[in-house]
Amino acid sequence: MNDQSKPPSCNCPYCDGPIHEQADLCQPCGVRISYCSKCGKPLPKNASSCPECNAAIPRERENKQ
Ligand SMILES: [Zn+2]
Ligand SMILES: [Zn+2]
Repeated sequence: MNDQSKPPSCNCPYCDGPIHEQADLCQPCGVRISYCSKCGKPLPKNASSCPECNAAIPRERENKQ
């Protein structure tokens, strides 16, 4: 196998670091990543719709603390 490791499928919206596929956490900055349920792209923190496919993003359970 001479395949080089594939380029990461996406980048962290926060630190722009590479995210392993569908990882829950960005390794470089440790932030929790949520993904568009429609296209699977990582979503910016306060996005109300997906920047990629414009799908509305349902709010996850809010943690009011
Ligand atoms: Zn990051
Ligand atoms: Zn999307």
